[in-house]
Amino acid sequence: MQTADIQRRWLDFFGSRGHTVVPSASLIADDPTVMFTIAGMVPFIPYLTGVVPAPYARATSVQKCIRTNDIEEVGKTTRHGTFFQMNGNFSFGDYFKAGAIEYAWELLTLPESEGGLGFAEKDLWVTVYEEDDEARRLWKSIAGLPDERIQNMGKEDNYWSTGQPGPAGPCSEIYFDRGPAYGPEGGPAVDDTRYIEIWNLVFMQYAIDQVTSKTDFRILGELPNKNIDTGMGMERVAFLKQGVENMYEIDQVRPVLDAAAGLSGRRYGADAEDDVRMRVIADHVRSSLMLMTDGVAPGNEGRGYILRRLMRRSIRAMRLLGVDAPSFEVLFGASRDAMSTAYPDVAENYDRVSRLALGEEEAFLRTLAAGTSILDLAVDRTAKAGGGTLAGDTAFQLHDTFGFPIDLTLEMAEEAGLSVDRAAFDRLMSEQRSRAKADAKSKKAVLADVSVYGEFRAHGETQFLGYEQLDT
Ligand code: ATP
Ligand code: MG
Ligand code: MG
Ligand code: MG
Repeated sequence: MQTADIQRRWLDFFGSRGHTVVPSASLIADDPTVMFTIAGMVPFIPYLTGVVPAPYARATSVQKCIRTNDIEEVGKTTRHGTFFQMNGNFSFGDYFKAGAIEYAWELLTLPESEGGLGFAEKDLWVTVYEEDDEARRLWKSIAGLPDERIQNMGKEDNYWSTGQPGPAGPCSEIYFDRGPAYGPEGGPAVDDTRYIEIWNLVFMQYAIDQVTSKTDFRILGELPNKNIDTGMGMERVAFLKQGVENMYEIDQVRPVLDAAAGLSGRRYGADAEDDVRMRVIADHVRSSLMLMTDGVAPGNEGRGYILRRLMRRSIRAMRLLGVDAPSFEVLFGASRDAMSTAYPDVAENYDRVSRLALGEEEAFLRTLAAGTSILDLAVDRTAKAGGGTLAGDTAFQLHDTFGFPIDLTLEMAEEAGLSVDRAAFDRLMSEQRSRAKADAKSKKAVLADVSVYGEFRAHGETQFLGYEQLDT
């Protein structure tokens, strides 16, 4: 079942059940405090919070999403992409808990020949919020699930709130059991590798106030208009339906992975570390393609900085696969071909996007070359002086002047048989940060890369970790 086929089944199913089909919004959220669209519900927030009356009682969408806070998981788990598509159905004061559970169960278990997703009932598990007896009762009566396959979860996992006074409510998540080859028995409460979360149902049931955190608040009472917000991960369903091992091997992603393998001359499946690198490249190239198609350009701040980091991380991973030559033309071309059926604007914008990508690659390869010659000199000097440790200020200069990520310096020093004085490097970094803070206070110019860190902090959810923490 191709990803586009899952999309069609989804929209047909909810469309024919009274839901207005709403096209995906841009990855760049309207809301300036949100860096990217991180969930299917983002474009519907004004309707869900009641700030704006909803123009329809029910809606459905397949929404493009970016989650940079999952970047560390990419390629290592089977199920986290920085870009992915979230399929949602939404009710604005119309159907509630029973309706949402009925629809989800019906679509998942309806045979493929009848337009459904054709999952076997025996492979599905659910979790409910521990105090939501109503949800447990509904899963038993609607789906006929036995109590053992309905697991309780606490507020941390199965409660939704914005952290602000307003709507909130319990969630219920649906999991697919991949079988004993993938981990221990016992359901999603025990293992999230064998049991893959595919769909989250949010029941916006209560009004809350006195909020001190996402899990600590007072329930004022039931909302007069209860809403439903659900999100199904389309890549996760695709990989389970396509009989492949993870979301990086589905039809929309795998061609990029194969292109990376082809360029490197290494075989996917031969080496665990190389496999992670290939999956990271496949993910990051696709995310970069989709971000640039939606108008983001690489830069030193905000969204552009995240895009730049995704592309540089791909280049780094290619380098670790032994490829120093430019590879974006091939990689982005493969991603374009895989994504254009679902997103014709990817092909329409490709000339502009590939110019950006190739320019970024060329610039970073130049940076790498310049940094490499400085590093080679320093390595030589250190070795001649009989030392085994590269000075911290060399690593700092490489970072500060050449934008050379520390993990790259560490790796290249190691290749030359040297270690790096990491403590001295860290000290210089933190001194630089304090200087920048002091500068900012006195309204002097702030170093570009440091101001960027501050900006990400302001964005909470989409906070992007420094390159040092992004090593693969
Ligand atoms: P997980 O616990 O696996 O990280 P989540 O609970 O963070 O998932 P939700 O916020 O509930 O995910 O999002 C709704 C659905 O979107 C999930 O059930 C999953 O199918 C999908 N999803 C979430 N994050 C990702 C991601 N990074 N890549 C692919 N699919 C995702
Ligand atoms: Mg998550
Ligand atoms: Mg989860
Ligand atoms: Mg979830």
